[in-house]
Amino acid sequence: MKKKSSILLLSALAIFIVIAVEGFFVYHIYHLETEKFDFRYRGILQKGLDYLNKKEENPGLGGVFYLMEFPAKTALEYFHDNDPDTVKFKENVLAALHKTLTEKQKVDGSLKSYLKKMKIESEFNSIFRITHLVLLGDDLDIPIYNSKKDSTWIYPDTLGIKKNQIPVNHYSFIGDHYEIGIDYYVDFDHKKAEVFRAVTASLIIAVLALLIVCLIFLLSVRNLMEERRLSQLKTDFINNMTHELKTPLSTISVATRTLENETILSDREKSREIVTVIRRQNRQLTKQINHLLEISMWERKQFSLDRRILELEPFFTGIAESFRWECQERKCSLEEKYCLVNKTAWLDEVQITVALHNLLINAIKYCTQEPLVILEVSCEDRLIISVTDNGIGISKEDQKRIFDKFYRVSTGNVHKVKGLGLGLFYVKQIVEAHGGTVEVTSRIGKGSTFTINMPAHGKNKNTVS
Ligand code: ADP
Repeated sequence: MKKKSSILLLSALAIFIVIAVEGFFVYHIYHLETEKFDFRYRGILQKGLDYLNKKEENPGLGGVFYLMEFPAKTALEYFHDNDPDTVKFKENVLAALHKTLTEKQKVDGSLKSYLKKMKIESEFNSIFRITHLVLLGDDLDIPIYNSKKDSTWIYPDTLGIKKNQIPVNHYSFIGDHYEIGIDYYVDFDHKKAEVFRAVTASLIIAVLALLIVCLIFLLSVRNLMEERRLSQLKTDFINNMTHELKTPLSTISVATRTLENETILSDREKSREIVTVIRRQNRQLTKQINHLLEISMWERKQFSLDRRILELEPFFTGIAESFRWECQERKCSLEEKYCLVNKTAWLDEVQITVALHNLLINAIKYCTQEPLVILEVSCEDRLIISVTDNGIGISKEDQKRIFDKFYRVSTGNVHKVKGLGLGLFYVKQIVEAHGGTVEVTSRIGKGSTFTINMPAHGKNKNTVS
């Protein structure tokens, strides 16, 4: 069992590694696709700028550089008057020039027209980042901002460059009142969607592979649990069988030892009594051994139906009658409700008798009060047989499993109620061989109803597979 647990642990670890490796690959594919997108669009945009450059110098920014002279000049005057050599002053100057730059620039307009002309997706946002700015005074130059030195400034968000923005160009300009350097970035609206589309195929393959691995893992776990359950059931079965065989054997052993006693041997009456006990226990042993042989026969799938047309009413009254005889000791009441006048069905008489007997016996076996059993049978196109009892009932969880081979409800698995967990398994096999179904409805402490439903004259298979 330890070995199996470590196999499970190793499988779980393998799945974890597969997930990590797949995640790593998908992440890298995403990055490669992003870089591919950036490379492609950067090339296109630079070609566009080259094309526009041929028409004018600094296309889209020529006029802006001229307009930025005004805030630069105002700042210089303000500086002369108040000499405010503070970070606040510098931030304000930078903000004023940046505002003029972003509001008045026409670079993106020109580029968008170019992209449209080239029939390329043209929805993007422009981002201008001032990399350095110096005010040029008459007597001295006032450095305002340098991205390398002043990177810790709190300044408009537009200075923070986000990952999906593509660097396109760098502009430098020296005017009358200022000198400036600008990085130009572009952020395409469709970038994420396009990259995601390119990654989708890899993502689907990765998820599919993962699902298959998980499925295999789950199936292995299920098989392992099933194996564990069967081995547990087998152990229970062997324990029960050993108990069933040991009881008559020890009785026989005690009885024979008693018979060896000379005084008992001379008492004919006593001897006959002991012989009867031996014979009864011997019968019990034979029954158990036959049971075992029967199991092995079912295992080898040699069970076959021998169907004939049966008059139903006498058939069921006969079964009820012998059941009453069998249970005389338990003061059991059996109520019969038939709707079978002149009805016949095509059944294997022996097997249906076994199935019904198993249901009736269980009805009194698993009952702690005076048993009241109701046998109800009706037949139209289908033969419906139900056995209702006032027994201990079966929990919802156990109802799903009581038809499994060797399954016994754990409280029922104490030797107080003898059994091998095969009765209901046989019932199910027999009913299914007739093309029918068997179901149970039950409530703990309130009793159970087992219902067999099968075609009365079906052309169904007559061999259990
Ligand atoms: P066995 O009676 O030999 O244990 P069965 O296959 O006939 O095996 O029944 C399986 C289990 O289902 C039983 O151990 C018992 O716990 C439960 N069971 C069967 N019939 C009834 C019933 N009528 N009322 C309550 N429990 C039942």
